[in-house]
Amino acid sequence: MARGTGCDGGNGGACPRGRTPEEREDEMPLLLYAEGEPEHDFDPAWDYELGEDPAPYLVEAAREAAARVASASGLKFHLYAVDLTDQGVLARYADGTAELPVILIDLNANLDACELYDAPLAVALRTSIGHELGHARQEYEGRDSDEDDAEAFAAFLEARISG
Ligand SMILES: [Zn+2]
Repeated sequence: MARGTGCDGGNGGACPRGRTPEEREDEMPLLLYAEGEPEHDFDPAWDYELGEDPAPYLVEAAREAAARVASASGLKFHLYAVDLTDQGVLARYADGTAELPVILIDLNANLDACELYDAPLAVALRTSIGHELGHARQEYEGRDSDEDDAEAFAAFLEARISG
């Protein structure tokens, strides 16, 4: 799969227009999608690495994926781009935000995963978001965190979107 128009062409992955994590230390993480007003005052910057700015085409793809998952699920949520490299996951639901789920997504990790599994980027992004929304739903309903259930919820949404 082509890497699109990412700006990592031969300069070791550094984006000339991007800011370094140090420069972004006092900034909010990149908000990709937001529907609904949160009752909580969760700030992803407290717990997560902001990382460098993702490539514009990845941001665009994530926004599109979020809008589709939102309409398929009927759920409102907030989606932020963060660097989850040290957690080794593609996305994460912020525990305690079930009233209006906050989802963190690592766009570069999703890109790597879709290249590895030869899956379309849009599907990888939607599945990551849907899976974490599944965890939010579990918490909202007072259930224990369940990977199989979250995976099934993501698959259910994906079938609605692509079917
Ligand atoms: Zn999970």
